Amino acid sequence: MRFPFAKGVSRASRRWSLWALLVVLVLALLGTLVWLAGRYESSMVQSRLEHDATEAVTDIRSGLTRNIQTLQALQSGDRTPESWHASAADLLRERREIMRLEWRNETLDVLGFVETPYRTSVFELLGRGSLQTDVGLTCTTAGRLSGAAYSTSYFMPQRDGLGLEVLDMCLPIMVAGRLTGYSVITYSLQDMLGELVGRQLARGIGLSFTEADGTRLALQGMPSRGSRIYIAQQLLDLPGNTLVVRMESRLGTPALFPNVLTALVTAMSLALLAVLYLLARDMRRRLKVEHDLGEALAFRKAMEDSVLTGLRARDLQGRITYVNPAFCKMVGVDAKDLLNQSFPSPYWPPELAGVYQQRQEIRLAGNSLPREGHESVFMRRDGTRFPVLIMEAPLINAVGKHTGWMSAILDVSEQRRVEEISRASQDRLQATARLAMVGEMASLLSHELNQPLAAISSYATGSINLLQDRMDYDQPLAASVGPASAPLSEDLQLAMRRIAEQAERAGKVIKSVHDFVRRRDQVREAVEPRALLDAIMPLVTLQARKLGVTVAIEVDETCAPVLCDRTMVEQVLLNLSRNGMQAMQAAAFEAGAAEPSPREKVLTLRIRPAASNAQSRWVEFSVADCGEGISVEVAEQLFTPFFTTKEEGMGLGLSLCRTVIEQHGGFLGFEPAQPRGTIFSFTLPAAQPHDAGPHAA
Ligand code: ADP
Repeated sequence: MRFPFAKGVSRASRRWSLWALLVVLVLALLGTLVWLAGRYESSMVQSRLEHDATEAVTDIRSGLTRNIQTLQALQSGDRTPESWHASAADLLRERREIMRLEWRNETLDVLGFVETPYRTSVFELLGRGSLQTDVGLTCTTAGRLSGAAYSTSYFMPQRDGLGLEVLDMCLPIMVAGRLTGYSVITYSLQDMLGELVGRQLARGIGLSFTEADGTRLALQGMPSRGSRIYIAQQLLDLPGNTLVVRMESRLGTPALFPNVLTALVTAMSLALLAVLYLLARDMRRRLKVEHDLGEALAFRKAMEDSVLTGLRARDLQGRITYVNPAFCKMVGVDAKDLLNQSFPSPYWPPELAGVYQQRQEIRLAGNSLPREGHESVFMRRDGTRFPVLIMEAPLINAVGKHTGWMSAILDVSEQRRVEEISRASQDRLQATARLAMVGEMASLLSHELNQPLAAISSYATGSINLLQDRMDYDQPLAASVGPASAPLSEDLQLAMRRIAEQAERAGKVIKSVHDFVRRRDQVREAVEPRALLDAIMPLVTLQARKLGVTVAIEVDETCAPVLCDRTMVEQVLLNLSRNGMQAMQAAAFEAGAAEPSPREKVLTLRIRPAASNAQSRWVEFSVADCGEGISVEVAEQLFTPFFTTKEEGMGLGLSLCRTVIEQHGGFLGFEPAQPRGTIFSFTLPAAQPHDAGPHAA
């Protein structure tokens, strides 16, 4: 079996791994894109550089060619050294890349030379003479080629501590197909780059002449540093010499947005990542909400399932849309048989269906039903009817729309049963109380009447005796008095005897009534002390609630069952409890204060073992109140029949209680309670093992 928790964990981990995979894929994709964009950008830069380098080489080449043409023009015709000199100076003023221009004859002797006006002589330090061989070689090549030839470049140290890489170009001077001399130009490589390359070099781009092995000979522009350098190399193939033109560039430096594509892709990637992050955050929040919602739903479900009240929802058409398990259990019908059912509902007793139908129609017509609910009768599946209390309320959804009706249904059959039992027991106790009171009255009357009856009887007997004595004494006189007096005496005697007899009979009648009343008291049984309290509790709590009294019960469970007339003892307990509660009520009224709080009005019913000796054990019952207490005057007459301080009191309660307890062999007394009030207590004998069943004592 898989636990839901484990299932949840594996689902969560799968979800997380999916997210991780997505993030990795997106990152990889973005990385690739950026890399590709970068590569594209570099290839673009590279090709632009290559193009620029080619153009630079072309520029240099055409610049050199132009110089050759200018030189040819300079040498054409008959030139005097002076005119040559002036033209040559003009030329050098114009062409800054030329350091020196020499006119040499066919044996390479210098006929004239002009040096650039823009700087001091290049050959100032070393002199031109040391280079005669090189010039010779170059010019030989030029002569062989019948055109311009270039020497290898060489380094000329300068006075300022730096040096200059220079290059000679030799152009043979031909007059009518005959070699008449040479023009030798010394170029500064540095100035060739600066002057011959047509366009301005962008920032970050360096143009240089290098040798084949990479040694830099001259540089124009910013030399590039750093790792991301683009290099384009082109060969400048000159007759007699080959130079490498090298162009270097740093990526992205020249333009404002050098790597637009890369930047775009990066920005889009960042945006994508941000969206991904927001999505993930949103997802996390959703998950949390989902989780919370799940928990709330589970909690609600648990609540609905565990609640004992039946819950039922109907839509506006009267169809059942929801029932909870308690409702299904109550009516004994499964939820699936109830859902979507309309009228008549399966739990309506057929004989009441018409009435219920009318009620539903009234409700559906929009008439609101009482909030406090109404009583109704439902039917279980087995046909038994049971009373229910239904509370209905309109079902309003989240947007405030009335969508149906929600009902809470309480099965009140148990409540009704308890009420019935309590009513019956109240009736029984009241009848018993009345009977007991009548009995007590009869007993008191018999007690009170016995004495006057006994007095009548003895007076009658005394009178008869007196008459008899008189008759005996008067016998001798009888003759003289006349015969009439004798029968009178006899009649009197007879009458007296009748009086005595009737008085005796009345005494017997009263005794028999007394015995009859007493006989009822003789039925005793072994009863658990707690059961006596339980029997009167419904009545006591009823009155306690009415008077705002709290009832406390303290029962020592070790108490043995007591041997008693159950009904009479219950009556005693009830009477004492009622007196106690009334005393607290009276105390509250006398104090004139506001109604005392229920905490102050406490009636304590206590049962505990009383002192016992070897032969018998006793159980003590006590009823303590916090009422007005009992004054000395009242205490003197407390148990006197018909003594009462209450307007509607009979004054028989306590005397009856005492009689009942004394008949059981117990003792009923009272004492003041602390801090106020009275404790009435009585004792009853504990039942011996052989007293188990009810019997007449
Ligand atoms: P009744 O309750 O009808 O008056 P009772 O014989 O039961 O008759 O009580 C007699 C009188 O004893 C009462 O009127 C009352 O004044 C007084 N009495 C009884 N119980 C208490 C009590 N717990 N506290 C104060 N007075 C009491």
